[in-house]
This record gives sequence, C-alpha cells and structure tokens, in this order.
Amino acid sequence: MAQGYEPVESPDETTVFPYHDLTPPSRSDIYAARERISPYLPETPLVRSDWLSAELDADVYLKREDTLPTGAFKVRGGVALGSQLGDEFDEHGLIAASTGNHGQSVAFAGMQFDHPVTICVPEDANPSKVRSMKRYGADIEYYGSDYDEARAHAERLATEQGYRYVHSANEPELVAGVATAGLEIIDELPDVDLAFAPVGGGTCASGLAMTIGDILGADVIGVQSAQAPAAHRAWKQGHLEPHEKMETVAEGLATRVPFAMTMEVLREKLADFALVDDEATLEALRQMMVRSGIIMEGACATVFAAAFEHRERVRGQTVVLPVTGRNIAEAKLEGVLRD
Ligand SMILES: *Cc1c(COP(=O)(O)O)cnc(C)c1O
Repeated sequence: MAQGYEPVESPDETTVFPYHDLTPPSRSDIYAARERISPYLPETPLVRSDWLSAELDADVYLKREDTLPTGAFKVRGGVALGSQLGDEFDEHGLIAASTGNHGQSVAFAGMQFDHPVTICVPEDANPSKVRSMKRYGADIEYYGSDYDEARAHAERLATEQGYRYVHSANEPELVAGVATAGLEIIDELPDVDLAFAPVGGGTCASGLAMTIGDILGADVIGVQSAQAPAAHRAWKQGHLEPHEKMETVAEGLATRVPFAMTMEVLREKLADFALVDDEATLEALRQMMVRSGIIMEGACATVFAAAFEHRERVRGQTVVLPVTGRNIAEAKLEGVLRD
C-alpha cells in the first residue's frame, strides 16, 4: 500500500507538503545551483539584437534560453531540484502539473537522475510539449480543462500515493536553478540597466530580480497577459487571491492562482509589472519570427510586446530580453503564419 504525504498549511491556494520549504533561495543557494546544473546544461548565449537595438533606440540583448534542452528556461530549475533530491522518493518518483514546460523540465531531470516522473496536464495541452515529456520518459495523466484543474489532480495523487510533488513555483531549489540565468548575464553584461521578465508562477522574474536586480541594481519589470492577470493583480493589491479570468494565447503564463514564495520575492524586488494584450503579444511573436528568425511561444513574446509598448522606458538603456521558450504549438504557429 502506497504511503502518501499529508499536506501542510499553505499560505496560498495551492497544496504544499512537509518537504516544501517556502523560504526563497539565498544568493549562495543560487551559486550552488549553478555548480550543480553545469554538468547537465550549457550556459546560454547572450546576443545583441541589432534590429531591436535600432528599433528601440537602445542596446538590446537576447538571453537565448530557448537554446537549452527542452527549449525553455525552466529546465534549469528542474535540474537544480532533481540533482539534490534524497532517495526517499526513489520508489514513487516525482509528480508535477504543467501546461508543458515545467513538465518537460521535471521529465528531463527525472531522466538525468533516474527518478520516475508523472506529469498531469490539462486535456488541451500543447501536443508538442506532451510529446517531448514522453520522450524524456514521463508518464502523462490528462486531467481537467486548465492548468489549475490538472494541478489539483497532481496534488491529490501526491497526497494519496507518496510522489514528490514538484510545485511550479514554491520550490527554493527550482527558483535558485532558474536564477542561474541571471548569474550568466552578470558575467557577460555587468552594465545591464533593465530587463523584462514574463510572469506566470513567477520563477523567471524572481530569478532575474535576485541576481541582476539585487547584485547589479538593474530594474526588472514583470510582464503578464492582460487576459490572465492573476499574478499582476496579486502584486498590485498585495494578496494571494485567485483570479477567475484566464483566456490567453500564452499558455505558459496561464494560472489563476498566485504563488506565495515567488510573490513575496516579486513584491519586494520588481521595479514594475506590466500587462500586455494578447493581440500585441501575437504581433510581437510574428515580428520576432520575421525580423530575427526566432520562433518563440506566446509566454515569451509578452516580453517583446512589453518592450515595444514601453519604448520610452527602454530608450538609451542596456536591456536584456529573455527568450524564455520556443515551444509554440504547431497549430498556433500555423495561425500566426497565415494571418
Ligand atoms: C513558465 C514560462 C514562463 C513564465 O515563467 P514563471 O516562472 O512561471 O513565471 C515564461 N515563458 C515560458 C516559455 C515559460 O515556459
């Protein structure tokens, strides 16, 4: 009979277990994560975009997280977490809920460190992301109509069966791993003034704020879809309440629920938080494809839409725009190409 874990009290609407420590990572945790992930993941290129620099009258650099295995930055977090898990989870392995990239990250880490992995995905999950999770050996459970329904299912299974539930944000090691991108930027571009970061669960923006924000004094601006503004609302209003409205082309940012640990970091450290309309995001996605030959998914394109919309703030600055992921669903890409 499988032994589960009883959830402990959670500050947000998600379930956390006794093994979840909600203390944000320290700077030394981030440096330690960099050491741990380096055998498994290459550093990513930081490349000046001549087109965007001219277009925005600024010095614009792209941090090409899309070049990582899995095609998204999240794998840094999965590997950082997976590389220091104890053997108490060997039998049941890891479980996570994901619209795609978190699941790929956990599946990739499970493959590297020999943990079995189960990923709960919403029924309409991006098929290319699901194929990739399977390729890394994960078992897939389809459940529910959106991320939060799949998440509740994963939390239930973890309670009943004793999986190690890998939360998509309330995980210090995962956030430390994601933050290693910021350490790489510090090495290469110490005079960065400003970065934009897409916010879903908030790990990417937290990671940049704790590194180039804290260490270099750069401003980090969060970006979310105006069609799914849960984190933006929580950040502005100072609470962790769920938000019902969520219909965005950026499935990587689609959550109704703000997460406690990352929200604490974002409240303390974000310089600002912008919302962009999906229409502007799709236009930015198309522009980046046509002008730069870079294919990105909606969650990532929000950053480019925000940089265009905030060109006053960007002008004259040294700016980093992270290319957080390239895993756009085939059907969406075809739609973008047709329009
Ligand atoms: C998950 C994701 C984001 C948002 O990151 P969070 O850490 O959840 O805020 C942005 N872009 C892509 C491609 C993602 O997969």
